[in-house]
Amino acid sequence: MALNLRGIAFRAWTGLAMVCVATLAVILVIQFSPLLGYLGEKIHWWSVDDVGSRVLEEYGQPGAESNIAQIALAEHYDIMIVTALERVVFWVKGSDPTPNVDPLDDADVTPELRLLLQTLANELELSGRNVLKTTRPLEEGESTYIYFARVEDQEHGTCYVYLAVNFAEPSDSDAQTLQIQVLLVTIIMMAILLAASLPIGHRFLLPVARLTKSAQRLAHGDLSVEFNGHGFTETEQLAATLTYATAQLREFDTDRKELLANVSHDLKTPLTIIRIYAETIRDVSGDDAFKRQTHCDTIIEEANRLTDLVNEIVELSRLDSSSTTVVLTEIDLAEVLRDTLTSFAILAETEGYTFEASIVDTAPIIGNEHFMKRALYNLIGNAVNYTGDDRFIGVSLARRGQVVRFEVTDTGEGITPDKLPTIWERYYKSRGHHSRSVTGSGSGIGLSIVKRVLTVHNARFGVQSVPSSGSCFWFECDLAPDAEPILDRAADHTA
Ligand code: ADP
Repeated sequence: MALNLRGIAFRAWTGLAMVCVATLAVILVIQFSPLLGYLGEKIHWWSVDDVGSRVLEEYGQPGAESNIAQIALAEHYDIMIVTALERVVFWVKGSDPTPNVDPLDDADVTPELRLLLQTLANELELSGRNVLKTTRPLEEGESTYIYFARVEDQEHGTCYVYLAVNFAEPSDSDAQTLQIQVLLVTIIMMAILLAASLPIGHRFLLPVARLTKSAQRLAHGDLSVEFNGHGFTETEQLAATLTYATAQLREFDTDRKELLANVSHDLKTPLTIIRIYAETIRDVSGDDAFKRQTHCDTIIEEANRLTDLVNEIVELSRLDSSSTTVVLTEIDLAEVLRDTLTSFAILAETEGYTFEASIVDTAPIIGNEHFMKRALYNLIGNAVNYTGDDRFIGVSLARRGQVVRFEVTDTGEGITPDKLPTIWERYYKSRGHHSRSVTGSGSGIGLSIVKRVLTVHNARFGVQSVPSSGSCFWFECDLAPDAEPILDRAADHTA
């Protein structure tokens, strides 16, 4: 078991050692300081006060004498009630090992005791109080705790209640033995604690060590690693978090590999075509103006495809990058949509497309114009690429309360229900290809860009599609908080 001076186990052990030393110091200070004696005295006085007040409570009650006698015997107190003329009314010596249950009388009062009673009575009267508490060395080496109180009695006039008790104090040698014993037990306990704490600490840290080993494997790129935090709630939670993070990394890694494979495949095809056509122009068709023109057009088309693909990848990585913060400001979605549609106007003019647009006057939202335009462009572009032979595309933007809803519909083949959940995934392309690729896309990234953009905008989105009848892609987002409420007016426009 190698000792790691910076490890938690060693740090915990040194912490524990310090606590032990501090405890030992406190015990020593208490043992050898006057504090213990002071505390003992306090506790004795609490007991004397308690017995004194119980006796005073009993005094004057029916059956008082026998009750007070019982207290004296039970608590081992000498209790005497004496008149102001020093005549003993009641006296029980509970301190005797075999106490005399019959009350004693004047004859049993020694001259010393009589003198003490006189002194106490004088002191009490001088103090002006009703109770006097004092200690006197009545027996050798021991101080007697005395409780002396004045009471009034109809029968005897002013009387005094005298309570005296000796608390058994351990002898000096007993006390010393006790101190040594406490010290020894404390030191032995501490030694055991310190000796045991290091292996115990190691045992506690076993799951942490296991997790660290697995994390090191993960750091070296082993994504198949498993995290086992079994033993403690905290380490189990840590293991679960690391397992989740590893699963995310695995998914990310698969995505990355897939994207790389697909992208390189898609780059290879146009590059091959460009190379072949360029060679053909150089070797064969260079002098034939018509063929050269056709081959050059193909080269340009493929180069454009490459540019589109690269642009889409750049856009996606911008959205993916955690360092890219999409700046959101108030924008008018209606204006952004109208602007986007102008890019498609040429298709209406030259390719026979019909764009039926119903767009509300204004739709202020909190968003990013560039990314929103991108999402709208991709959705409308897909409708163009996949719509049916009638080349119809419906676009609508409507406000309902505090929500604005965008829809784009086409009349194409639609999407089968089993494919619906996958189309938003990066690089998903249905097996069948575009009915036509008018907008030059076809990378399989378009919808995943739309998904990212709409997620950033907190928008709800989806698609309804009926195979052979067409699809309707939609999204809804909240209007800007200070948007003016309007009646649902929409400007119809058909191109
Ligand atoms: P692509 O560049 O291949 O169109 P997208 O991410 O934009 O990639 O779309 C992913 C897939 O979703 C497409 O390959 C297609 O199968 C399907 N799709 C998207 N829009 C439509 C639509 N309007 N009609 C039918 N299928 C669609």
